[in-house]
Parts: sequence; structure tokens; C-alpha cells
Amino acid sequence: MEVVLPIRCKCGGKLKKSKTKVEFFGIDFGIQSCEVCMQCGSEYLSQELIETIEKEVRRTGLLGSMM
Ligand SMILES: [Zn+2]
Repeated sequence: MEVVLPIRCKCGGKLKKSKTKVEFFGIDFGIQSCEVCMQCGSEYLSQELIETIEKEVRRTGLLGSMM
């Protein structure tokens, strides 16, 4: 079942709820819910998940060289 959201991608496409495997800097965050643009395929992660990822990346020190 597709859930189409009332918000739009920056390309103008519609977003739908989806699941994606999230991995950053070799850290596996597992399968997380996200929103995917039906037009361009861009994935949008929730703010909460982005914060979790940032914290984890900082904790491991991998972001050090980028800041
Ligand atoms: Zn798009």
C-alpha cells in the first residue's frame, strides 16, 4: 500500500512513504522509514534519524576531518 504524502519534493514530485537501508561512513543504521520522491527518486530521512546518524558519526570520530 502506498502512502502519498501532502508534501512535495524540491523537484515538484510527490513523496511516498518507503523503507531504505541506511548506511553512512560504513556505519549500518539498518532499515529505516523514509520518504521517496516518485519523480526523481530522492530519499528524505526524518530529522530525528538524521540527528541519530550525526551523533553516531561524531561519536565514532569519523566526522572530525570534515569539520
Ligand atoms: Zn524529486
